[in-house]
Formats: sequence, C-alpha cells, structure tokens
Amino acid sequence: MKTSKYFISARMDDFVLYYNLVNDTLLQLPADRNEGCVECLQNPNNTRSIYWSKLYEDKFIIEDDFDELKEIQRRHWRTVNSADELNVTVISTLRCNSDCIYCYQRNLDFEYAEMTEEDFDRLYAFLLGAPQKNIHINWYGGEPLLVRDRILKFCAKADKDKKHTYSYSISTNASIYDDRFFRMMERYRLTNVTVSMVGTGEIHNGLRPSAEYGSDRVIRNIISMMRHTNVIVNLNLCKSNIGNIIEIFEELSGYRHSSLSFSFSRIVSYEHRPCAEIELDVDTYMQHVIRLANWALDHQFRVSDMSCFQNLGVYCGAYARNNYVVGPGLYLYQCDRSYDPEDSFAQIVDGALRYQPNGIGCGNTELCLDPYKVDECNACRLLPYCNGGCDYLRKIGKSACPPEKNYLEEYLKLYYRIFYERR
Ligand code: SF4
Ligand code: SF4
Repeated sequence: MKTSKYFISARMDDFVLYYNLVNDTLLQLPADRNEGCVECLQNPNNTRSIYWSKLYEDKFIIEDDFDELKEIQRRHWRTVNSADELNVTVISTLRCNSDCIYCYQRNLDFEYAEMTEEDFDRLYAFLLGAPQKNIHINWYGGEPLLVRDRILKFCAKADKDKKHTYSYSISTNASIYDDRFFRMMERYRLTNVTVSMVGTGEIHNGLRPSAEYGSDRVIRNIISMMRHTNVIVNLNLCKSNIGNIIEIFEELSGYRHSSLSFSFSRIVSYEHRPCAEIELDVDTYMQHVIRLANWALDHQFRVSDMSCFQNLGVYCGAYARNNYVVGPGLYLYQCDRSYDPEDSFAQIVDGALRYQPNGIGCGNTELCLDPYKVDECNACRLLPYCNGGCDYLRKIGKSACPPEKNYLEEYLKLYYRIFYERR
C-alpha cells in the first residue's frame, strides 16, 4: 500500500479537512483525532488503525500499482472530448461604452469590429448542425448589451430550433438595463449574468471612465437584473480600489439573500495596455481575496466558488473541444483573451469549420495542449487540481499556475464555508 500523492489538509476551528484531489472526496475529522489519521497516512500498511478503512475507501491510501497520474489523465481527456454540451462564447462586439484603464481589449486596431447581422445568421446556421442536444451561449464583448437587438433576434430564432435546447449567460458592465431585453432573455433560459465592478463613486470613475454612466447606475441595474436571473458581481481588484470594495458589498447589502453572489479577479497589466502601477502582485491579491471572501461570508453574502475543487479535469473551457469562442467575422479562438483573426484557429465558412493553417486551439486536436506533457506540471502535486492552468498565460510567457497555488489550504476552507457552512 502507498499514500496518495495528491491530497491537501487544512485545520479549521476544532476540526481538520482532508481533500483528495484525484477523486474529490472531502473528509472532516475532529482536531483531537488528527494525530491518529496522520500516523495512518504515514504508515499505509497499518491496516489495524481505526482510520485505515475510511482512508482506503476514499483513496487516500491506495494499492501500490494504482497509477494516480493515469487516473487524472483519463478524467482530463474524457472532458476534453466530451460531447454532452456545446459551449460557445460569442464576442458579439468589441465596442464598449467604458474606457477602463486596464482593459485588455484596448489599443487595438480592430477595436470597433463587431458581429454583423449576417454573422449572427451564419452562426445560427452553423449551430443548427451541432450534434450536441444542449447549447450554452455566453454573450460577451466589448459590451454585449450594445447589440442587444441582434442578440434577441438570434435567441428568438434559436427558440424555434426543435433539435437543440439553448441556454444563455451574459458578461456585462451593467451600464445598460433594458427591461424588455431581460424579460425576453429570461424566457429564452438566461441562467446568469456576470457583472464586473471596480468600485463606487470616484474610484469607479477613475478606473472605468465613461461619459455615459457611473457606479450608481450599475448598482441600480444589478438590482433590476436580479428580478430576472442570478447575478454574479465579479470584483476586479487592484491597488487603487482595494480600500473601496466593502462599499460595493454595503450598497448591495439589502439583496444578500437573493440571487446575488460575488467573485473576485485580479486586474493584470498586458503589454498593449500597460497598467503595472495599479497591479497587485499575486500574493497581495490572494491575501485580499481570502480576507474579503471571509468577510463577505461572515456578513451573510454569497460568494461564488472560485476554486478548482471538484473539477472535471480541465482548467477552463479553452482545453475542451466542445467549447468555442466566436468573434466578428466568425473567427474561432481558443479562449476569450484572443480576438485578433490572426490568432484564430478556424473560421466558420459555409456552415462548416475551416481550420487556419497555423491556428492554435483545442478545436484542432493536434495542437491542443496536453498538460501531462509539460514537465513542470507532470511533476507538480497540484496537477489534478489545476490540470495545467491557464494556457493563454503560458503562451504569452507568464506563469500558467492559478493564483491560489500557494494558498490552497485557505481555499479549501473557503470552499467548505461556501458549500457546507450554511446547511
Ligand atoms: S500550472 Fe502550475 S500549479 Fe498547475 S500543475 Fe502546472 S506547475 Fe502545477
Ligand atoms: S486559457 Fe486562461 S485566459 Fe483563456 S479561458 Fe482559460 S483561464 Fe481564461
């Protein structure tokens, strides 16, 4: 017998959590029993220990010939090749009514490109032939609400497609609220809206300058959207707004028991839109995320799970073959960080995919990244957790590791609080 290479544990008040990263089992043990459990894990052949059968059953202790790497590799490829649902992110427009000082889509020659009526029609025609029964579309931008009439027209057509069941989500800055649009989208199976926010008042105005709207309008619109769907407020953190984040929670405190939840992301400086002076380093960012998420839970707000616990074997949709990002001109990308036709791996032409000769993407099997061939990942005990991390960052020469890499114990505690504490 041997002990699994892939588990983590964390002490929480008077108990200890154990999480098996390969098969996702979570054990909770009174702290005064932890010593016996640790001893058993150190001596996996001691079958007389009272902890042994549970640890064996949940694969913390495994047979000598059990190949954990093969097991997680199987899970990875099963999801990469899964045909259950087609997920499509549609960059409907690259136009926006904000001028965010950190936006990664800025300073680009093709900044104002957007999907034409014809693009929408051709996308629909292409999806008619999709073999999957379920199709989920995330309307993305730029600001997708700027082309809401085209989106509604598409959804009305898709609603008549008897072969497929469509559902939708929207990523927006919440500057625009159109009641008819949200009423109709609710009817067409809108599952959630993700709203990015940076702060209130002058903090918002400084980071997200716009002649058209301020943070008051964003808050009002979030409240209106909640009448029709779940809203996830994604708080974009940087040096300039870290002291202002609690104010966003407070502005929405009357809605904490409704369909509202919060998540966090880090504002990152990219070469074509540098904002290094406001970027938080990963450690500082993580410390703030852990502090703010725990504060929010203490104050009865809902926090979305941001971890990769209970994952399906891929870090993100960019690894899966049934996951496309489609942009203007119906070019296809591996992930939503790419929107330049030169980086696309294919284009939808005459209802079919035409692969680009040098394109990179998971739709093109041969070029799809295999995290098990990356030496650093193969040797890493977090591989079943992150499955190779962010391939986009790897490609631009940055670290692919998830920001929580060195904070997994804290993340496990948050995970426990999010899913089990309220029950
Ligand atoms: S991306 Fe980073 S954390 Fe993930 S397996 Fe590779 S080296 Fe480990
Ligand atoms: S590869 Fe990275 S940037 Fe692209 S979707 Fe995945 S996590 Fe996001």
